Amino acid sequence: MKIIAGNWKMNLTFDQANTLANSIKSSNKNEIILFPPSIYALKVKEIVKGKNIKVGVQNIFYEDFGAYTGEISAIMVKSMDLDYVLIGHSERRKYFFESDEIINKKLKKAIEYNLDVILCVGETLEERENNKAFEVVKNQVLRAIEGLNNLNNVKIAYEPVWAIGTGINATPEQANEMHQFIKEIINIPVLYGGSVNEKNAYELLSQEFIDGLLIGGASLKAEIFNKIIEIAELL
Ligand code: PEP
Repeated sequence: MKIIAGNWKMNLTFDQANTLANSIKSSNKNEIILFPPSIYALKVKEIVKGKNIKVGVQNIFYEDFGAYTGEISAIMVKSMDLDYVLIGHSERRKYFFESDEIINKKLKKAIEYNLDVILCVGETLEERENNKAFEVVKNQVLRAIEGLNNLNNVKIAYEPVWAIGTGINATPEQANEMHQFIKEIINIPVLYGGSVNEKNAYELLSQEFIDGLLIGGASLKAEIFNKIIEIAELL
């Protein structure tokens, strides 16, 4: 089984989100997950009902309730019967200063409430150029899962920062190598993310250690995302 996830980030009006959600194909073979902006998540869940498509949010805070204006919590997500949460996306690390410690707290909360999680890790260009990619990713993984022994609900997305939204994807070999490395640390599904499109999806998905794709830009266009869903059906 492959996992095809779409991260809509902070994009689309409500009407556009409804149109997109209505157009997404489902699969009986693979797992399809949508991460709309959280304010649209319940509506998207309603739209895809009965279609074997899961819906999640792009972030949670690590407390249940309280004076944390603007935040949403794992218990809230669970109480709305949503399935998934993305944790530690590089944009959260960069723009919202999420440290490995914060990511670890969020992961613990998501697991406490039995949410499925995609934990994002990945090195910057500078780190790769300085031969630090493997060390950085290893540290991100180990720090995120510190103190946790049940990771049944967790998947990792390897998303090299230099490949996100740049049009430059990691080569299938580069991604496969890192996925194998991650699976040696912890043997759970590992998705690749970073400039995935309908042209590179087949080769990426064909790699031995690539269990799925986390797709940003290309998940905003129904025909492209559906094409990638169709490609995954071939494997
Ligand atoms: C992402 O946001 O997780 C991502 C991989 O984006 P893009 O596919 O646009 O590079």
